[in-house]
Amino acid sequence: MDKRNGYRRHSGAGKVIAAVLLILVLLCGAAWFVLFRINQFSLSVQLLGDKETTQEYGRPYQDPGVVVSMRGSLFWKKGFRPKHAKLKVTGKVDENHLGKYTLSYTASMLHWHGSTQRSVQVVDTQCPVITLEEDIQGQTHPGGKYQEPGYKAWDNCDGDITDRVVRKEERGKITYAVVDSSGNPATAEREIPYYDPQPPVISLEGGETYAITVGTFYEDPGYHAMDDVDGDLTGQVTVEGEVNWLQPGVYPVVYTVSDAYQNVATVTRNVEVVAQPRPEKTWPQEKTIYLTFDDGPGPYTKQLLDVLDAYGVKATFFVTDSGYDSVMKEIVNRGHSIGIHTVSHKYDEIYASPEAYFADLLGMQDIIYRNTGVKTTLMRFPGGSSNLVSRKSCEGIMTVLSEAVQDAGFQYFDWNVDSDDAGRARKAEEVFDNVVEGVSKGRVSAVLQHDIHGYSVEAVEKILKWGQENGYTFRPLEQNSPGFHHGINN
Ligand code: ZN
Repeated sequence: MDKRNGYRRHSGAGKVIAAVLLILVLLCGAAWFVLFRINQFSLSVQLLGDKETTQEYGRPYQDPGVVVSMRGSLFWKKGFRPKHAKLKVTGKVDENHLGKYTLSYTASMLHWHGSTQRSVQVVDTQCPVITLEEDIQGQTHPGGKYQEPGYKAWDNCDGDITDRVVRKEERGKITYAVVDSSGNPATAEREIPYYDPQPPVISLEGGETYAITVGTFYEDPGYHAMDDVDGDLTGQVTVEGEVNWLQPGVYPVVYTVSDAYQNVATVTRNVEVVAQPRPEKTWPQEKTIYLTFDDGPGPYTKQLLDVLDAYGVKATFFVTDSGYDSVMKEIVNRGHSIGIHTVSHKYDEIYASPEAYFADLLGMQDIIYRNTGVKTTLMRFPGGSSNLVSRKSCEGIMTVLSEAVQDAGFQYFDWNVDSDDAGRARKAEEVFDNVVEGVSKGRVSAVLQHDIHGYSVEAVEKILKWGQENGYTFRPLEQNSPGFHHGINN
């Protein structure tokens, strides 16, 4: 019974103790939980404005500031702003020195701390300024240098940078350019106010009308250009216009020059390419044979001259620069006609161009003149005017040359009887037969032979005898002799 009572008493107090203990445990747990959470709070410093920012050189820096807030993980998710938190800013932005600056913001309250940083770059993006002094009054261009009135370059960062200005004087203007140490450019420009109303004067040597004969290479006779301000401008003259020295006509050649003030002067020279008058051709009255010998003089020419002398006959020699200079003289001394054939007799060279042909023609004329004292205008084209071989070197050249040589005062001769001594005839007998056959066809004949072939020279005596027996007269070619011109094939 007692046992049961005692037990009952005991069990009533135990319940109270258990309840108290439970409450204590719960309180401790709650307290711990709250302390744990509070401990997890943090003080945060948030930047207003950018974390990295630039600041223009020389302008006062104004910091956008920060926001300090207390934050927890469970309560106050948005945090709150503690009134008593202390904020300390370290670092400084020097607006007057380019560079990178760091500002540190540290907040503290009780045992909580928070911090952040901001970097500020001080930069110079402003261009320098160039100022130009007023032009010096009444300054004209006195033919010398333009007098610079002065200029300055100022930069907000670098200060006076006048000595870095690049100055360039061009036609009628000056440009100034400068760059500051941060690479910001500036330019300025000024007109040069000089006054030059007078254009240059071009003077032509040889005059504004100038004449050459066909076949004479045209070379500019010369010119000068002078300007009252700029001086001698001869080197800047442009010359335009082609003179066709092969074709009679008037060819304008235009000379142009401008001075530094852009005054332009133009002068025209009219170059007249004049054709020489052509001699009137007269045909002989009687039966006539013109013996002509090409490509010599050669080893048989002297022998030929003797034969011709023996029969009292004058012939015509179209000579080359064969090296028989004394024989060339002998031809003239013995009263024969001498004519130009060619210096080189190389078709591809002489027919390469009209220039090349005339160079050869005039060259041979000169050689004959030096050897004989005769300035002959009689000539024969290598291959004759009908030759086709020149087409390989220059298309149409014979069409041009056959007129041009006559306009240049030459008389060219072809032939109407070919002895064929440069072809199939290789014996005196064959040469004779060909000549007689050809001559018999007409009243007036020009016979082609080559005195560089012995067999051809050998045939001459028989030809002379036959001709004289058959009532022919042998004559040398002269300026007014018929040309026996072939048809032109190129
Ligand atoms: Zn020839």
